[in-house]
Amino acid sequence: MPSVFIKTYGCQMNERDSEAVAAQLVAKGYVLAKSEAAADVVLLNTCSVRDFAEQKAINKMGNILGTARSEQRTQITGFMGCMAQSRGRELIDRLPDVDLVLGTQKFHRAAEYLDELLAGKRDKIVDVEAEAKSEATIREHLLNGSAKTSVSAFVSIMQGCNQHCTFCIVPATRGEERSRTIPDIVAECRELAARGVREITLLGQIVTSYGRREQRDIWQVTSDMKQPAEPHETPLCHSSLSTLHSSPFVQLLEAVHEIDGLERIRFTSPHPKGYGDDLVAAYARLPKLCESAHLPLQSGSDRLLKLMHRGYTREKFLGLTRKLRRARPGIGLTTDIIVGFPGETEEDFEQTLSLCREVEFDNAYIFKYSPRRDTPAAAMPDQVPVAVREERNHRLLDLVNDIAARKYDAFIGRQVQILVEGPSRKNAARYTGRTRCNKIVLFDGGERHRGQLMDVKIERTGSFTLYGDPAIVNV
Ligand code: SAM
Repeated sequence: MPSVFIKTYGCQMNERDSEAVAAQLVAKGYVLAKSEAAADVVLLNTCSVRDFAEQKAINKMGNILGTARSEQRTQITGFMGCMAQSRGRELIDRLPDVDLVLGTQKFHRAAEYLDELLAGKRDKIVDVEAEAKSEATIREHLLNGSAKTSVSAFVSIMQGCNQHCTFCIVPATRGEERSRTIPDIVAECRELAARGVREITLLGQIVTSYGRREQRDIWQVTSDMKQPAEPHETPLCHSSLSTLHSSPFVQLLEAVHEIDGLERIRFTSPHPKGYGDDLVAAYARLPKLCESAHLPLQSGSDRLLKLMHRGYTREKFLGLTRKLRRARPGIGLTTDIIVGFPGETEEDFEQTLSLCREVEFDNAYIFKYSPRRDTPAAAMPDQVPVAVREERNHRLLDLVNDIAARKYDAFIGRQVQILVEGPSRKNAARYTGRTRCNKIVLFDGGERHRGQLMDVKIERTGSFTLYGDPAIVNV
């Protein structure tokens, strides 16, 4: 059977899409190759959020095609995901040896198209059309494909984004928000729990907008849906008082929380606007919901937040961090920040620095602004010079790293509960797990620890890593 190698760029949603494509291909008899050179089929799952990510994937494909040509190997190659969606046939015009361009609503067609290409029935395939119900097709898992996923799994709950932040290309690459139904998502989570998964991360471009367009339809059971693994369980119903007053996303959290065997629930990526009082209260009320929240800030300046079309102010954001810390003391808070958005002055940037000092994020993902095609920000005046973006990026990184190092050091001597995911990628003698507030812990462990919830004492810290003492491991 043909072998396939999939390389993924970008976010966890892309990782999840790649896993679903890999699972689909394995189910059809494909084998997963360890490297691109050894594969009959190479697929690059791409990201469009910044130009850098697009160029990396294009260069990579250029190298793959060049090597195959010089070694006189025949290989089927394809782009899929966000850049495939936004550039479509243009990618084949640029790299004529590419065989397949598969958009973000077409991942489930990968096997069918590859079969046609491998059989020589078609020469090139470009499919970036919208497809109704495609949000429900990212469903299959490769649980034994990697150590990590057998303990912890990602579940895609929705596709698309309706926020239209002025810097962001995602609404164009992922389309309008479309949500799966709660019974469908719960059935998938139940199957995962039955196969040994103990932690689930609910995924979407803006998970806090889950089900807003569908409202009551999110409870519908559709005939093409797989039934729950434990059919004897009480059917889900949405008649409890708390559920009726909750947003669709909190209704989903409550439903997933009911699943036996699941120990931990996380979600990403949310929008700060989406943390209503019901979601904040869910942190206090649902013990499986881990005390960790990602709050993409983007800027600490109200002027820029308005230009970015973010829909909250600095004060609202700060209020939210206080509410979350009240609901769950010790909650881990992380964020995304863009530096060098058009028109960002030194004073605006200072506002971002001061907000970071005030909140003390546990980690922050900092992005240098990258103009994206057909986004309003790309046409805004006062684009910030690249050198200034670089300099602000360094300054903010230094601050974020200093704060995080202090916060990590504060764990030394403390006992924390971790869920063990498997061996560390860098050192197989070490095992890795995460605290509830989403910090990575390394300890000298073994296979017997995989999937265990256990307490370790933190002895020392490294860069965004805690080291636990195996001597006091309690299993
Ligand atoms: N849920 C997130 C939110 O509230 O905006 C969106 C996730 S987005 C796919 C990941 C991050 O990429 C954003 O939070 C933003 O910081 C960054 N990003 C998006 N567009 C960007 C651009 N044009 N330049 C630089 N960074 C960008």
